[in-house]
Amino acid sequence: MREVILKVDNLKTYFNTDDGIVKAVDGVSFELKKGEILGIVGESGSGKSVTNLSLMKLIPSPPGKIMGGTAVLDGEDIFKMNDNEIRKIRGNRISMIFQDPMTSLNPFLRISTQLIETIVLHQDLDKEAARKRAVEMLELVGIPNPAKRVNDYPHQFSGGMRQRVMIAMALSCDPEILIADEPTSALDVTIQAQIIELIQDLCRRMNTAVIMITHDLGVVAGICDTVCVMYAGRVVEKGTNDEIFKEPKHPYTQGLIKSVPRLDKPTSEKLFSIKGQPPNVINLPECCPFHPRCERAMDKCRNTYPPVTTLGEDREVRCWLYEEDK
Ligand code: SF4
Repeated sequence: MREVILKVDNLKTYFNTDDGIVKAVDGVSFELKKGEILGIVGESGSGKSVTNLSLMKLIPSPPGKIMGGTAVLDGEDIFKMNDNEIRKIRGNRISMIFQDPMTSLNPFLRISTQLIETIVLHQDLDKEAARKRAVEMLELVGIPNPAKRVNDYPHQFSGGMRQRVMIAMALSCDPEILIADEPTSALDVTIQAQIIELIQDLCRRMNTAVIMITHDLGVVAGICDTVCVMYAGRVVEKGTNDEIFKEPKHPYTQGLIKSVPRLDKPTSEKLFSIKGQPPNVINLPECCPFHPRCERAMDKCRNTYPPVTTLGEDREVRCWLYEEDK
């Protein structure tokens, strides 16, 4: 049984806007175990990125605010930490890689400067040792001729290579948790699989836990051990990879899985799509937010938000269908 290293409980992150309160994350709970790869999946606006920015305390305030909940890392609540304490966590114990590496790398500085700065900032190493570590990390992520390429500028690397540099930077301080926020969305399809495999391979070798944020169910199916499906700011289904893909319970998860193109289906067959659009999360009424799109919606769904139904160990769903079964 793997040890739980991060426990998020009832996280609420809201944004105050001129149109009303956006409840971007509204009561999210999950656990992350050592060395585990957890996928957080959902459409744009489901709250997956805000959940993880909240964990790093990177929510712009105002207009955003963490309104409640806890995120306990090794017995300490991240949300109770002051700026100094959280700075020690960021990059050191929890690292993050973003969609577009070009926006995270400074185009005016050599890779060596940026990597060495990160290593010196977070580890007790002098510049020479940090440079050696930087070259080792570039080699580890598959950059050819790393001792020479470390002196290049970001624009001298392709998109895929830049994302490899970001992975090197994120893992250079040996974090316990890596948050990867849509790490392949800005890359060519051919490169995407290589980057995903690299993250999986390195994290398994370094025993780093990963939170993989994605809208791509193919990525989740391929590498994640456990999965949280988010809709309108809440987790609507949780389970192991097998449970979610072999026996999805929530109608939204079932729709997501049905809409993935499959090689064993004739190309002439029309691809399934979930009808309608995700809801506007401003002033959401207390009903199931999926009901306008759900083929199995009942009267109750239109009036009351479904509670969490526990179906087994770490297996949960938020849907009235399963409360009815009980
Ligand atoms: Fe569909 Fe009702 Fe379940 Fe919501 S609670 S997903 S509307 S059946």
